[in-house]
Amino acid sequence: MVQTSFLGDMVLTTPLLARLAREGPVHVVATPANAPLLEGHPAVATVLVYDKRGADRGWGGLWRTARALRALGASRALLAQGSLRSAALTRLAGIPERVGFDRSAGRPLYTRRIGYRADLHHAQRLWQLGDPLGADVPPPAVRPTLHPGVAHAAAADALLAALSPGAAPVALAPGSAWGTKRWPGFAALASAMATADGWRHVPLVVIGGGADAPLAAAITAARPPGSAPVLDATGRLPLLATAALLARCTALVTNDSLPLHLASAMETPTVALFGPTVPALGFGPLAPASRVVEHPNLPCRPCHAHGPATCPLRHFRCMGELSVPQVLGALHAVTRGAP
Ligand code: SF4
Repeated sequence: MVQTSFLGDMVLTTPLLARLAREGPVHVVATPANAPLLEGHPAVATVLVYDKRGADRGWGGLWRTARALRALGASRALLAQGSLRSAALTRLAGIPERVGFDRSAGRPLYTRRIGYRADLHHAQRLWQLGDPLGADVPPPAVRPTLHPGVAHAAAADALLAALSPGAAPVALAPGSAWGTKRWPGFAALASAMATADGWRHVPLVVIGGGADAPLAAAITAARPPGSAPVLDATGRLPLLATAALLARCTALVTNDSLPLHLASAMETPTVALFGPTVPALGFGPLAPASRVVEHPNLPCRPCHAHGPATCPLRHFRCMGELSVPQVLGALHAVTRGAP
């Protein structure tokens, strides 16, 4: 399996990994960034890190990684990441059967092409790569899985120890690498929750990378004096410890970004805010209790596969018109009104 795409893509690959593990050992080619997500995953025998933009850059790194992959003796490669470079890697590794999507750049080097079903969730699309005959088998409902270890759980617990015992927080994930995916209302939501029925005594924890610290600071500053506390966890936890933290939260409010998929794996009730992207692209929440909040009728949506840095139409209505009461209503729904 080659999965050197974004972090969320790796999470969504786990149903396929579980499927493949029933047939034999599964080796995964991953990036330095997404490899930690597979730590302790029972479906994975080996993680081979391919630092394609760093230490393994260029032909030398490609050959080196291909040699390491060849040594694993795989008979079939599934190309979840569809670049020509990934396909070349598996070809150079001498893997006789190479399977990927029929619209991927690497398809000339595949021995079998699977139709890319734009109508499916991406986790189901990836699951279809494991079809032995490439048949158009209807995919089952799938949900990703992650397996935080004891150290991850301890890191999450240590951080939550700052809260009153038993006070399960609501997690907020206000960041995203893509500017237009960031809902600008998180601070207003935190302020409203401080006085809202059912939420005023519930602490908040802000999750994300180190670059999201200013967003966490704005959320903290928005809380009136005497409010339930806000924990800033941005940049403080490894990926699987963040997953462990989410498992301890009442719910998550998130943009269309990695925390959404971590919460799907940990079954954390999820409110997902979509602006320039739409769930129909295949990346909606899969947590058992989830709600999507999105603009009901904006013809410019979706305007990009990921979300541009700034709104090309300059009005940014897709996110700017999502209201705090809408989000609070969704939060109430996913927690059945009982935080
Ligand atoms: S063009 Fe439309 S969908 Fe894209 S960022 Fe602007 S408001 Fe959002």
